[in-house]
Amino acid sequence: MLMEISAYLANDNLPQFLDTLRAFGTLHGPTLSESGVSLFAPLTSLDRLDLGYRRTQIPPKKYLFPFRDTFLEYRDGRYRFPSGDSKRTVLFGVHACDLEALAYLDQVFLSEPEDPRYAERRANLLLVGISCTPDDYCFCSEPAGSARCDLFLTEQQTGYLVQAESSAGASMLKAAAKLLVSAPPAPPRTPAPCVIPAQDPERAYSRDPLWDEFARSCVGCGACSACCPTCYCFDVRESTGLTGGGSRLREWDNCLFQSHGAVAGGNFRPGRVDRLRYRFLHKYCGFSPLQGRSSCVGCGRCKEVCPVDIDLRELIGKTAPEPGGGR
Ligand code: SF4
Ligand code: SF4
Repeated sequence: MLMEISAYLANDNLPQFLDTLRAFGTLHGPTLSESGVSLFAPLTSLDRLDLGYRRTQIPPKKYLFPFRDTFLEYRDGRYRFPSGDSKRTVLFGVHACDLEALAYLDQVFLSEPEDPRYAERRANLLLVGISCTPDDYCFCSEPAGSARCDLFLTEQQTGYLVQAESSAGASMLKAAAKLLVSAPPAPPRTPAPCVIPAQDPERAYSRDPLWDEFARSCVGCGACSACCPTCYCFDVRESTGLTGGGSRLREWDNCLFQSHGAVAGGNFRPGRVDRLRYRFLHKYCGFSPLQGRSSCVGCGRCKEVCPVDIDLRELIGKTAPEPGGGR
């Protein structure tokens, strides 16, 4: 176990510490774009680093599960996986909720049968977490820390307590040894995951009037799903080349779109209330094989981006469905 490997990094040494991390891969971290959008991006210059960010618009899932990805190539009469294009990356400054979300996606994509594109990217991604200050949109249970990373930095008054959580994290600490001073061994801890408890699936079929209220105001923009760090629905498209061959593309899909449930001759979820219920089921009740597990890590993105202030969590804690009704 590596939990006892920890050290103290003074604020003045942070820039040099970050430069040291570049030896482990291309350094990315939270930045603020010129148009004011918070996003994870390459830290070509440390001036770009925005350590005070609350949440990025698009979560770190984009490093493992890009919006559009060539999943298979078709050449010479055969399908084959594209040659690996993934590069070693150090993602710095990830909050505990997003680390928990990546751990959830690992379960989805690395369970048998493993997703080869995700697995390759995951093996090349080193994660450096950092403590955060929740705002009104956050609702995670305990933002104190996370072991779902290689290194975790906890902000102190004049610097950071830096804790290795993996052998790669221990190597980073070793490489930065001259910038660190020893810190007392961190006490054994079990950081509470930023996950709200799983809900009763019956809630999705309850007659609570909130469902109708939500369905009336939802404009079906899909922003809540696109920005969610654990939403992973995708569509598959074939793209053929004019000179032969082609590729199979995987693109993010969105359960709030009418097209998501469309099949020949109809639609599994024709109404907005059907689609909102479906999202509630997936997010808060879990699907097989992760049934009974909530994948909501409380990052607050969906609440912040929804143009009509819909918050499905308002249904949580409501009274049980009426006997015999609802479905
Ligand atoms: S459902 Fe909303 S709060 Fe929960 S993880 Fe997704 S975006 Fe974050
Ligand atoms: S962000 Fe709001 S309005 Fe847009 S699809 Fe989601 S719930 Fe509906």
